[in-house]
Amino acid sequence: MSVLSLLTAPLTIWAVLALTPGVPAKDRSALCPPEPRESPAREAQWNRALNHLTVLGRSLPAAPDAQLWMPVDGVHVRDVADTWGAVREGARHHAGQDVFAPPGTFVRSSTTGVVWRIGSSVNGGQWVYVLGAGGRRYYYAHLGRVNRALREGQAVTSRTILGTVGNSGNAGATPAHLHFSVFTAYRPGEGCRFLAINPLPLLRDR
Ligand SMILES: [Zn+2]
Repeated sequence: MSVLSLLTAPLTIWAVLALTPGVPAKDRSALCPPEPRESPAREAQWNRALNHLTVLGRSLPAAPDAQLWMPVDGVHVRDVADTWGAVREGARHHAGQDVFAPPGTFVRSSTTGVVWRIGSSVNGGQWVYVLGAGGRRYYYAHLGRVNRALREGQAVTSRTILGTVGNSGNAGATPAHLHFSVFTAYRPGEGCRFLAINPLPLLRDR
C-alpha cells in the first residue's frame, strides 16, 4: 500500500460508511457482524448455548459494567488505536478493538462473570467468551493459548487469566494481538444474535 493510500484509508472508510444506504450515522454505534455459515451440528450447539445464557446469567447483576478493565497485561488504553467499524476483508466492519502485545502476554477477563464458551473458529482462532453483568458477552479471540484450567460455566473475576495473546485464526499474517468484542444481551427473535458495541470508551487502565 502506498503512503498516499495509507493516509487516505481512514477517510475512505468513513466515506464508505457514510454512503452505505440504510445505515444512518447514529446506527454505527452498534454493529451486527455477519455470522459465518456453520454446520447444522455447530449451529445447534450455538442455539443451545444461547438458550443457556439466561440460566448462566442468574447470579450476575442486571446492570452491565460501566467500565471494563484493560484485558491485556502491560498495555495502556491510550495505546489502543481505535479501529472500531473499520472496513476489513469481505467488506466486513471491525466489530471490536485489537490490543497488540508480545505473544504470550496474559489476557485477563475485563469483568466479573461466568465463562460462557471456550472454542475455536476459522476467523477467531482460539477464543473465550465470558458472560458478564446485564447479559453482555465479552469475546477474547486470536489467543495463543487458552488457560487450561478454565472451564465453561466457571465464575471469573477481572483478575482471572483467560489465556495468552497470539495470532490464531485469521490473524496469522498480523502481529500478535487480542481481538476484543463486546456483545449486548442476547434477545431471542431480535434478528442480530451478536450485536457489538465499541469497547474502547469503556476500557480503563488497571
Ligand atoms: Zn480484531
